[in-house]
Amino acid sequence: MKKKIAILGHPIKHTLSPKMHNYWLKELKINGKYEAINTPVQNLEKTIEKLNKHGYKGVNLTIPLKEEALKYLDKKDKLVNITGAANVLIFSKQGQIEGKNTDVFGFKKSLINLVKNKERKIAIVIGGGGAARAVLCVLIQMKYKKIILCNRTRKKAELVKRNFIEKFSSNLKTHIICKNLKDIKKNIKEANLLVNTTPMGMKKFPSLNIDIKDLKTNSTVFDLIYNPLETKLVKESKKSGITNTNGLDMLMYQAQRSFYYWLNKTPKVTNKLKKILEKEIK
Ligand code: NAP
Repeated sequence: MKKKIAILGHPIKHTLSPKMHNYWLKELKINGKYEAINTPVQNLEKTIEKLNKHGYKGVNLTIPLKEEALKYLDKKDKLVNITGAANVLIFSKQGQIEGKNTDVFGFKKSLINLVKNKERKIAIVIGGGGAARAVLCVLIQMKYKKIILCNRTRKKAELVKRNFIEKFSSNLKTHIICKNLKDIKKNIKEANLLVNTTPMGMKKFPSLNIDIKDLKTNSTVFDLIYNPLETKLVKESKKSGITNTNGLDMLMYQAQRSFYYWLNKTPKVTNKLKKILEKEIK
């Protein structure tokens, strides 16, 4: 029987997920199809119900559905609980819906080599949404001593912090400090890692308005944006000789893990696939 999978979101027109998953299905000779379904929030419940009934293996979720979907889960893993967001739903044979968060895996897998043997004292995370929570999860796991969470709305960052303190209780060894994004300047020079988790810099969005000239040369910059491939933040880091990446590896690794959850096979993240996606973006 044909294996059916989809990504739900709104808007969904420019998603790269069908390109990746259909490439892997073909590569692994699996009779299947991955499609993109435009799903505004108000249609989420009905769409999940319908796809589940029609034998879909599961779905990916993107903006604005990752938090909303929590209402419809029969089961969720620890990471969904901590981040409050699910980007993968798995439909069981009995119709049960399980939520997973593979953004955490994707971010960790793409960060780990970049910061190998580097100091893990202070990380600046910009943003306070679902992606920021996935990033925080990883930085805590990786034992960063201090995370400075800078968000446009400081109150929202404080909420994220409170939630992490509750979830980790005495196991939280990382000190989280919340700031308003406009006060980031003072902290830039002490950071070992700077991560942008906001949509700023994305195609059709203005650039992130921060000055990184005081960043240490041995620090690392991670921009979750992959369209364009080089945001102003990535370009400036490159110019200063700072280790940097865009969000394309993270995107591929979250997809790799999603694929595994639905089909019990781990497809390969290769340079060939990366080139295909880069071509699609350019
Ligand atoms: P989200 O939950 O909507 O959160 C967005 C965050 O960005 C919020 O904290 C928001 O601040 C902030 N923000 C929005 N507009 C801003 C502006 N004009 N100036 C400053 N801050 C602003 O979204 P998300 O799910 O976290 O996703 C965020 C980005 O990460 C998206 O662009 C998404 O494509 C990207 N992402 C990439 C990957 C990957 O695999 N590479 C995975 C996940 C997400 P307020 O709290 O003040 O509203």
